[in-house]
Amino acid sequence: MPTRVRSFAPGPSMLPDEVLTEYQASIAHYADTGLGILELGHRSGQFEQLYNTTVERLRALIGIPAGYELLLLHGGARFQFMMLPANHLGPDAVADYLVTGHFAAAAAAEAAVYGYVNIAASTHADCYLRLPSPDETSLTPTARYVHYTSNNTEMGTQFKQPPSAPPGTWLACDASSDLLTRSFDIARHGLIYATSHKNLGTAGVAFVVVRADLLEPVRQLPPFLSYFTHAQAGSRFNTPPVTAIFVLNLMANWTSRQGGVAAMETLSTAKSQLLYRTIDDSDFYTGLVDRDNRSRVNVTFALPTAELEAEFQTEAARQGLVGLWGYRKVGHLRASLFNAISLDTVGQLAEFMEQFARAKRRRLPRHLRGGEARVLR
Ligand SMILES: *Cc1c(COP(=O)(O)O)cnc(C)c1O
Repeated sequence: MPTRVRSFAPGPSMLPDEVLTEYQASIAHYADTGLGILELGHRSGQFEQLYNTTVERLRALIGIPAGYELLLLHGGARFQFMMLPANHLGPDAVADYLVTGHFAAAAAAEAAVYGYVNIAASTHADCYLRLPSPDETSLTPTARYVHYTSNNTEMGTQFKQPPSAPPGTWLACDASSDLLTRSFDIARHGLIYATSHKNLGTAGVAFVVVRADLLEPVRQLPPFLSYFTHAQAGSRFNTPPVTAIFVLNLMANWTSRQGGVAAMETLSTAKSQLLYRTIDDSDFYTGLVDRDNRSRVNVTFALPTAELEAEFQTEAARQGLVGLWGYRKVGHLRASLFNAISLDTVGQLAEFMEQFARAKRRRLPRHLRGGEARVLR
């Protein structure tokens, strides 16, 4: 058996060893069913119980108030790019989108199929390496909703507070990469969605928190596309991804055992601070993102040359540290610090970064020393 590596990939992410062990034990025998989890029927009492405990646990962890539904749907976050405007953006209505990354841009483009999209702010001209300030943001007073991405997984920016929304509109948030790494004030939102394979488990589920008065769509839709259908059916309108929900259950229990979201937030802060300190204290690495907008989940950085960036990844992989590639459209490097990555593992990466910088910096031509940013703007 090859040894397990430590993956800093942007998703699917690593799972804790304990979760893998529990999953393994359930492959042949799930509870007292005489069946394995891969074979468990979605109409069985055991699945009913699994579903209910998962939803209860997640509601408690995230602090979902009464008056909000939690749905577990097919299609990942990407499906929500379409489902949200299909349900809530009428042909004559306007939705505001804050375009702070490639995913946010894709969400805005899909919404434009259904109604008017106002790009309330965009940092595309700055390669999404910063967030827009409130005075660069022009919101529509009559907008149906304001959509934002809480954490830009690709470039590594993060809203520390939700943006404001005019009275009478509501916030919609793609929280795919930072839900469960920090607290969210759900009551400030109409709808929050996240994919499952970053902090919550494995691919196959989208997690949707929706205010009860927003279940009814504004237009006639095929039933599968309507939030109302899935709320009525307890997210079992058709066969749900049983195994992915089981992994979500294991991850939710694991997260509780670690001390819940408050503990995850402290850990997330400590892990990212360690890496940013390593970057800032060196004259070899350059952080890509404006300091005030830095993400605690995705730490992005550049090395003095593209050749060194390639070498960095090869040598890191030799030490069992993988998945450090930057977003495919920008390159450079990125360490994704999802919940299952321990502080210890981040310590190993920081140590490797220091060793690598010490070994390579000496041999660099003078003009390349001093951590000149090669960062595209
Ligand atoms: C990963 C990610 C997505 C896409 O998730 P899928 O599971 O591929 O649908 C969307 N938005 C953000 C912010 C992400 O990080």
